[in-house]
Amino acid sequence: MADYDYIIIGAGSAGCILADRLSASGRHKVLVLEAGGRGRSPWIALPLGYGKTFHDPAVNWQYQTEPEDALAGRTGYWPRGKGVGGSGAINALVYARGLPHDFDDWAVAGWDWDTVRETYDAMETQVAPDGSRTGKGPLHVQDVSDQIHRANRHFFAAANELGLPSTTNINGAKNEGAAVYQINTSGGRRMHSARAFLTPALKRPNVTLMTHAFVERIVFEGRRATAVQFRHKGRQITLNADREIILSAGAVTSPRILQLSGIGPADLLKDLGITPVLAAPHVGGNLQDHLGINYYFRATEPTLNNMLAPFHGKVRAALQYAFTRRGPLALSVNQCGGYFRSSPELARPDQQLYFNPVTYTTSPNGRRSVIKPDPFAGFIISFQPSRPTSRGRVDIRVNDPNAAPLIRPHSLSTDEDRAQVVAGALLCQKLINTNALKQLVERAIDPDLRVMQPDEILSDFRVRCGTVFHPVGTCRMGEEAATSVVDPKLKVHGIEGLRVVDASVFPNITSGNTNAPTMMLAYRAADLILGDS
Ligand SMILES: Cc1cc2nc3c(=O)[nH]c(=O)nc-3n(C[C@H](O)[C@H](O)[C@H](O)COP(=O)(O)OP(=O)(O)OC[C@H]3O[C@@H](n4cnc5c(N)ncnc54)[C@H](O)[C@@H]3O)c2cc1C
Repeated sequence: MADYDYIIIGAGSAGCILADRLSASGRHKVLVLEAGGRGRSPWIALPLGYGKTFHDPAVNWQYQTEPEDALAGRTGYWPRGKGVGGSGAINALVYARGLPHDFDDWAVAGWDWDTVRETYDAMETQVAPDGSRTGKGPLHVQDVSDQIHRANRHFFAAANELGLPSTTNINGAKNEGAAVYQINTSGGRRMHSARAFLTPALKRPNVTLMTHAFVERIVFEGRRATAVQFRHKGRQITLNADREIILSAGAVTSPRILQLSGIGPADLLKDLGITPVLAAPHVGGNLQDHLGINYYFRATEPTLNNMLAPFHGKVRAALQYAFTRRGPLALSVNQCGGYFRSSPELARPDQQLYFNPVTYTTSPNGRRSVIKPDPFAGFIISFQPSRPTSRGRVDIRVNDPNAAPLIRPHSLSTDEDRAQVVAGALLCQKLINTNALKQLVERAIDPDLRVMQPDEILSDFRVRCGTVFHPVGTCRMGEEAATSVVDPKLKVHGIEGLRVVDASVFPNITSGNTNAPTMMLAYRAADLILGDS
């Protein structure tokens, strides 16, 4: 008799949803193993607390990529959430379903847009500014258009001046153009999948959560995954799963746990002395991420900086938050933006933009504090090419679960990606040079996007761009074992009793932020798992 029916590795955006949905009937015993803690920091609950968790090792794995020639020899800082809620506990809260073609392009049966849209509808409750609700899902998606800073109006005017669309619902049927970002909050507090799903599920007697449980390996009998080996309070423990083990450790760690367990590229396993269970060359491959860049401007009228930089402004914002759960502390640092086409000839949007009525200085080592804005009025315009074609890898370096990962994003390695960078920046340049935004610009903080040429744009991007924190794809889903890691039901090809359910199974990155699609994926995965039981 096994210890549990299902063992879920990782209580992140995906794992928390699985824990809830797999245990809901009361028929299955579910164990969730999470390497970090309970995620009770007040900076997690506070939406703008994002700035505080960005470098906090207590809640953040703080990975580093390998240096990349294409990025001027720089290494990249990759924060990932550590603790209940995972990266959903430390993210910037933007809720973006992605665009219909993102999922149709996955070209995997059962994951087309029409199907996943139904899943989104079931998972969400949309909350309007007046508090009225649409939908019955556990996850609240808040429309904050009544709370954003006044300075954002210039961004909408600029889009309008260029004849670009705007939308009142970036997650609705008309999703293109200038938009206010919807965020995952409820009552002014972060509503990540831990709060929406895991916390209620933990009231059930058939759900067990073990925190500070660091999973080292999955144990196999032949080609069947039977148990999970992990460290907890200095002891090594192995627990059995009667039905399935579900790997939800995120795009950086799920492929590494597979490799450490003997499922990975044959040469890698051999070189590191790992007994192979199954040669699976694609484990760790297909890594995709969004790269973005900020352009900073001093503003001619007050922005969030004026509200949050002075001491009295901080006190006022804190009091407003304490008494009303509203105001700048209740919002994401990303207030507006949207999906845009860099050229009207394109069939689909190819860029995601951000317009933030705040600036903060970025020091050379990449440290920053979002809640310590500059002492002058300022704003940021930024973009990320939506669908990069560069593909990288995440691998283990040595046969040691504690060793840092080998992350090689292979950024800007295609002509198309380099062209997309120039196209995105030129779109931002057009916006900043509109009459609407000209009146908001006092001056550019170096470099001056308004006058940059394409070659300058690309060289500046190489020196200053950074991840937008959306790594996906390292255990890609696909119909064919020859080209993917998991099948359309997220079962590891060639293995019994093991699935991967997290951002690592995306065949292609979605056009926007990746948390909503990851949660959708987990919600739907639970149906597939229960369907098989
Ligand atoms: C700073 C930042 C800002 C972001 N901003 C946004 C945003 O505004 N909007 C958006 O949509 N997306 C955003 N994202 C991305 C989004 O949060 C992720 O795509 C999403 O959370 C991924 O979910 P996941 O379930 O795949 O992994 P995660 O949520 O990272 O979960 C993995 C879990 O596994 C645990 N784990 C790892 N290794 C082990 C082990 N060995 N044993 C046990 N447990 C383990 C981790 O501690 C973690 O809890 C952001 C991410 C970051 C880091």
